[in-house]
Amino acid sequence: MTTTEAISLVIASLSLVLAVVSTTIAVQLRRSIAERIAQRAASLERSAPDRRPLAAVVVNPTKVGDVGAVRTALDRACRDLEWREPLWLETTVEEPGASQARRALAAGADVVVAFGGDGTVRRVASVLAGTGTPLGLVPAGTGNLLARNLDVVTSRAAEIAPDDVEAAMRVVLSGIDRRIDVGWISVERPGRAEPDPEECFLVMAGMGFDAQIMAGTPEALKARVGPAAYFVSGLRQFNGDRVRMDITVDGASHRRRVRTAVVGNVGRVQGGLALMPDAEVDDGYLDLLAIGPRGVVGWLDVAGRVITRRTWGDQRLAHWRGQRIDLVAELAQEAQIDGDTIGEATAMRVRVDEQALVVRVSSRATRRPPRAKPRIARALPR
Ligand SMILES: [Mg+2]
Repeated sequence: MTTTEAISLVIASLSLVLAVVSTTIAVQLRRSIAERIAQRAASLERSAPDRRPLAAVVVNPTKVGDVGAVRTALDRACRDLEWREPLWLETTVEEPGASQARRALAAGADVVVAFGGDGTVRRVASVLAGTGTPLGLVPAGTGNLLARNLDVVTSRAAEIAPDDVEAAMRVVLSGIDRRIDVGWISVERPGRAEPDPEECFLVMAGMGFDAQIMAGTPEALKARVGPAAYFVSGLRQFNGDRVRMDITVDGASHRRRVRTAVVGNVGRVQGGLALMPDAEVDDGYLDLLAIGPRGVVGWLDVAGRVITRRTWGDQRLAHWRGQRIDLVAELAQEAQIDGDTIGEATAMRVRVDEQALVVRVSSRATRRPPRAKPRIARALPR
C-alpha cells in the first residue's frame, strides 16, 4: 500500500465515522425536537380553557332519590352533548337556591338548572331574572307547575327516575330559549311596619283558601300521593269564612268578600285544570282570581265555572288582569308563593316584570301563536 493509498483509506474511514456520527446526532436531535413539540402541545392543551359550555345544577337533595344515579345520568347527558361536567350545587333549608344560583353565574355557567320543585325554581329565577342566562328545568317536585305550563315533560311518578332526569337534562342542553314574565311580590305581615323583601314568583301567589290548603297539606302525604294530597287538605278547609279584601288592579279599586285571591303568571294548576284559562306567561300581565262562594252551592258554581272556563264576569268568581295588583285583607290570611306557604299576611303587592326571564324549553314544546294584547283589568261588579 502506498502512502497515498493509506491516506485515502484513513480519510475514507474518517468520513464514514463522521457520517455515522452526524446521522446519529441528526436522528437524536429530531427525536428530541419532536418530543419537545409534543410536550409543548400537551402543556398548551392542559393550560387552554375548556371551551365546551357549562351547566350548573342547583338541586334540592330532599327531592332526589338516589343522588349517585341521578348524577351519573346528568353527567352522561352533558358528555354526550359535548358539555363540560356540570357543577352540582345543593340547596339547604337556610339557603334554598338563590346563593347557589349566584355561585353558578360567578362560575360562568351557560345555563342554570333548577332541579327540584317550584320552590327551587323561583329561588333560582330570582337571581337569573334580567341577566339573560337561561333557566333550565329538571322537575322533581309535587306540582312542577311552571314546567307543566311550559310543556316541559314531567314524570307523574312520586320520585323522579334517572331516565327522566337525563331526558329533562337533554332538553336543557339542546332546547330553545323562551322569554317569560316574572312576578315580584312584596308581603306585609300583621304587626310589622316594614314589608318583607320583594320575592319572585313564576306560577301563582295568593292569600286565603289556597294557602290554607297548602299549609294544611303534610309533606309526607304529598310525597305519598302527590297532588291528590291538596285535594284531601282542601276538603278540610271547605267551610271557612269569607274575608273583606280591597283589591286594586292598575289603580282601579274593588272591594270583595273572598275566600281566596290568587295572582297568576300561568293558568294551569294540578291535574291540567285551567284555573285561569287565558293567562299567558309572556304577555306582560298578571291574572287575578278573587273567589268568594258561600256554601256548597257556591263552591259547585265556582267549580263549574272554572271547569267550563267561564271565569269572567261573576260575583263569586271575579277575574281581572293587570300589571300592578294590590291585595289588602281586613284580617290576616295564610299566604303562599308558588306553593310555598309563607305564614300569615295582611297584604300582598304584586308587579310584573315583562319577559325578564329566559327559560330553556323543548324545541318540540307546543307554542300557541302570539295573540293580541289582552283585555285589561276588566272590572266586573254587578
Ligand atoms: Mg300573563
